Amino acid sequence: MRVFKFGGASVKDAAGIKNVYDVLQKVGYEDVLLVVSAMGKTTNALEEVIKNYFEKSEELNASVQEVKKYHNQILLDLFEDEKNEVFAGVNKLFSELEYFLAHNKSPNYNFVYDQIVSYGELISTTILSHFMNFMGIKTQWLDVRNFIKTNSNYRDAEVDWELTQKNIAKNVKKKMLNITQGFLGSDENNFTTTLGREGSDYTAGIFAYCLNAESVTIWKDVPGVMNADPRYFENASLLNHISYREAIEMAFYGATVIHPKTLQPLQKKEIPLYVKSFINPMLAGTCVSKGSDSEWQIPSFIVKRNQLLISLSSIDFSFIMEENISEIFALFHQFKLKVNLIQNSAISFSVCVEDKFGNFKDLNPILAKKFKVDFDENVTLYTIRHFNEKAAQTVEQNKTVLLKQVSRETMQIVTKEN
Ligand code: ASP
Ligand code: MG
Repeated sequence: MRVFKFGGASVKDAAGIKNVYDVLQKVGYEDVLLVVSAMGKTTNALEEVIKNYFEKSEELNASVQEVKKYHNQILLDLFEDEKNEVFAGVNKLFSELEYFLAHNKSPNYNFVYDQIVSYGELISTTILSHFMNFMGIKTQWLDVRNFIKTNSNYRDAEVDWELTQKNIAKNVKKKMLNITQGFLGSDENNFTTTLGREGSDYTAGIFAYCLNAESVTIWKDVPGVMNADPRYFENASLLNHISYREAIEMAFYGATVIHPKTLQPLQKKEIPLYVKSFINPMLAGTCVSKGSDSEWQIPSFIVKRNQLLISLSSIDFSFIMEENISEIFALFHQFKLKVNLIQNSAISFSVCVEDKFGNFKDLNPILAKKFKVDFDENVTLYTIRHFNEKAAQTVEQNKTVLLKQVSRETMQIVTKEN
């Protein structure tokens, strides 16, 4: 079996869904499992619904209607006849969502989040599955929540591999086009859980692992994995082949093409992962598989913007040692700052962090009781894998370098734009 993942951008409108059909015609759809994300920016739109729900905002109904209208337009573009069952199918899902909003009693934000946000994928797969049937491809629609079992850590649930393996082995039909939802799972009580934002790639990896799949293909609007983001670098080029290890390293440093959790299960079973263009499906794209890194010498650039560089030094000239460092890290964890780089010397300690939730302003006074705190906001962290002199120059030109760290394969540079 082959596992295909289509992300939100690939199914953002009727043309996108028709294109999925075209891709399947070209590459075959027998013995395939399609993992599909919510359409376009639906997950973000549902996050808005959740926010309005908790804030008891007057906008709540309007925000639900917006999601409805968006999907309804896609339905009208795809199916001429409003009597097609798909309309009733999608309506039923929206009714469920509205019922939940009207009757839910749980104050648990993360729980509510998962119950609501999951409709994005339930709706997208319903539409896709009906459309394939409409075009003459028979499909089996699978509710992923009957397969992927997780703990109850809502919004970032962990997979119960044993149960999941059992469910998948039993119930996925071979020789068919199976369609299921990315990103979702369910817990012990069958409440919906999610695997973390952008988690659909991971879903594909989970199925591939449990099915001993032949391969996974992630269909993208880019030709494959590039050595740099073409938005920021001229001369970005396609990487034809990278090893699992390289792909894991790149994802770790912030490359966004493949969700970081996806690769480990695939590597365990040596299942190759292809990243290909849904616009040019016959092009080879990138293959991530077993192999040596020696063929892999060109520098890759990974950019993280909007970082915060914090430097702590001791007030009394004492050394910053294990005890301080573990205390500092506990605070970062507590304030949900994600540490992307660490550098320390005898009396100072610098970290480049991401402050997604804007918590540093509350942490700063706590740190200031013990340390002298210096910080630079809005800095950029560049990571260069397989760096060379020229690659470093490309990054450094016209910028102020605040910090630089070099290891055998990786150079990291924190800069401030001039
Ligand atoms: N729809 C989810 C998200 O946008 C999952 C995914 O796209 O992978 O985060
Ligand atoms: Mg998405």
